Amino acid sequence: MGAPAAVAATREPFLRLEGIRKTFGRFTALQTITLAVERGELVTFLGPSGCGKTTLLRIIAGLETQDSGSIVQGGRDISRLPAMQRDYGIVFQSYALFPNLTIFDNVAYGLVNRRKGRDEIHRRVGELLKLVGLPDSGTKYPGQLSGGQQQRIALARALATAPGLLLLDEPLSALDALERLRLRGEIRALQQRLGVTTIMVTHDQEEALSMADRVVVMNHGFIEQIGTPQQIYREPASAFVADFIGKVNVISAIAEGGNRFRVGTLLLDGASGGAGVAAGTRVSLYLRPEDIVVAGSGDEHANAAHAKVTKVEFLGAFCHVTVAIADAGEQLLLLNVSRRSIDQMQLAEGSALRVALPADRMRLLA
Ligand code: ATP
Repeated sequence: MGAPAAVAATREPFLRLEGIRKTFGRFTALQTITLAVERGELVTFLGPSGCGKTTLLRIIAGLETQDSGSIVQGGRDISRLPAMQRDYGIVFQSYALFPNLTIFDNVAYGLVNRRKGRDEIHRRVGELLKLVGLPDSGTKYPGQLSGGQQQRIALARALATAPGLLLLDEPLSALDALERLRLRGEIRALQQRLGVTTIMVTHDQEEALSMADRVVVMNHGFIEQIGTPQQIYREPASAFVADFIGKVNVISAIAEGGNRFRVGTLLLDGASGGAGVAAGTRVSLYLRPEDIVVAGSGDEHANAAHAKVTKVEFLGAFCHVTVAIADAGEQLLLLNVSRRSIDQMQLAEGSALRVALPADRMRLLA
């Protein structure tokens, strides 16, 4: 018998995509996508419009056929299986409920197709309507419900047959901001309660980061990075990921060797990924606005520089402060500063201050 670690190492993921490629005529929509999704995980496909996330979801659903590559779900090779024979429930962006059927019949649809008994259907639909918080809506028609309510029903319908996999294709993007936020939390809570393996397509980074166990960042048919929301945000694997997720300062610098970089006359020491870069190489250093430190006059900080405020943008709880670094050729940097600190330091356009660029937060990305 093998040790538990050995068992874990060879355990199959719930869903495994291997070398999935898809072209539409001469256009390549997906370039050899390889991805494993663990049982019970919520994974989001995140990326700009046209990056291939919906195509990939549709291939998993069997609504689109890949040119090459394989898909294994729950130990079964489903690569060429028709959609009807796959084990998933799906929710689309537009509510896609049958308008001429009652809510009860909409939710019951998959169960009727599977020839379940009357009593079982009644029990299950009742259970599902309760689960999505609309226990009394069974006799209504979709047109009588709000957008958010219709998406809850679409979710109940997708879950009716207790599928192994739940696929969500931008399920929140047609809703208003408040309803989006509410449903986001509800879907995540429900998914965790049921433990259903879920893949959600979204182009909304906040949605992807707040809901996912892991995020798959896509660009031009490629996977740029797969990681937890924290990894994606804090340790972006590429310039694209750093740029696409959240705000980031990009500092153009020249390597001096020994993990030192020069911007104008300012010398910066030590960036993650910066060791071994040959002197004279032009590089881009990435630093999040919240990682820049506003240094008090007596404080000793590495990578400190004198700065002048060029703009203060009030955003409620905190402000975006733009500063120019004279020694760094007037390089502009964006900082997040709390309103309290703004008041204490009386920061306004034209104020002088010192900022420090922490080496452990600065990343060199190609
Ligand atoms: P969005 O967020 O805009 O939906 P996406 O990342 O989901 O974008 P896809 O819908 O997967 O992108 O499309 C990827 C690329 O493939 C796009 O350039 C799209 O125009 C193209 N494409 C998708 N379906 C087809 C099709 N049936 N025929 C031709 N091209 C297609």
